[in-house]
Amino acid sequence: MDRRVITYSRNVFLPLTTVCHNRCGYCIFRTPVHEGCIMRPGEVNEILAQGAALGCTEALFTFGEKPGLEPGFPELLARYGYQNILDYCYDLCETAIDYGILPHTNAGILTTSEMERLSEVNASMGLMLETTAKLRAHRFSPGKDPSVRIAMIEDAGRMKIPFTTGILLGIGETMEDREESLLVIRDLHRRYGHIQEVIIQNFCPKEGTPMASGKGVDTDEMCTVIMLAKDILPNDIAVQIPPNLADARQLIPCGVDDLGGISPLTIDYVNPEHRWPEFERLEEIAGNRVLQERLCIYPRFIRLGWFHPRLGPLIMKLDQHIRKEERT
Ligand code: SF4
Repeated sequence: MDRRVITYSRNVFLPLTTVCHNRCGYCIFRTPVHEGCIMRPGEVNEILAQGAALGCTEALFTFGEKPGLEPGFPELLARYGYQNILDYCYDLCETAIDYGILPHTNAGILTTSEMERLSEVNASMGLMLETTAKLRAHRFSPGKDPSVRIAMIEDAGRMKIPFTTGILLGIGETMEDREESLLVIRDLHRRYGHIQEVIIQNFCPKEGTPMASGKGVDTDEMCTVIMLAKDILPNDIAVQIPPNLADARQLIPCGVDDLGGISPLTIDYVNPEHRWPEFERLEEIAGNRVLQERLCIYPRFIRLGWFHPRLGPLIMKLDQHIRKEERT
């Protein structure tokens, strides 16, 4: 019998700005507008150069949602010659491509035209659904309205964008809410076939936030939700967990397919207190599974040609490269 495979992507994490229009009750990533809240082009370049030298294939651009709505941010961004964070992101995605790294952007809620434009320079994109429930944790976060998020994930499907989404556990939702969220993702995928992975992410309480006293989710509960996800989601969607936040070794037997993006260079800026496992430990974490590197665009979307033509040569080159590595 073939051994089951567990995949991961080798990435660099680029938080272009910590400014965000939402105010989620569990967040320590968001900051007010201040000097240094925008990652400078020189810093991005340096990380991309080092990431390329370390064999990274994915540039994860994740940053606060609609930062331009926060007073003072447009003026600060203008110092770098940009009026809009998405223009800034677009240009830095091009830089990543020049370094031979495929961009994957999660910029929060985007309009269809914003997504269409970014898809020219992104091999895949993402937006966590988090939950279909209306929660206290999100009461000051207009972008976390479930209907707004579902609409964007649906738009991505219409545009044939290979897409990552997921649910966040322990932010006040019930088990029924989790089931409903997974059913919504399943139904979107049935209509458009664009979901490549669903992250089952555990909320980790952070000092100094309104939800600092939250208890989080233990490994048994994570396992139950992973099994639920495997039950609900079609087989062509990978179930992913973040191995810096959860006990991946214990959870892989529950049905995990993927460990997400792991960086040899950058930290997880959303959960900076949780370090990535070392690459040398991944085999041990995978246990009796075959550990395999993947790109941020899954193989079936490469076969389907779900990417902008300008990304084709780099995708093919990196795809061949990681297949060759697999064989050696
Ligand atoms: S969790 Fe994300 S969307 Fe919510 S406040 Fe923080 S950066 Fe903004």
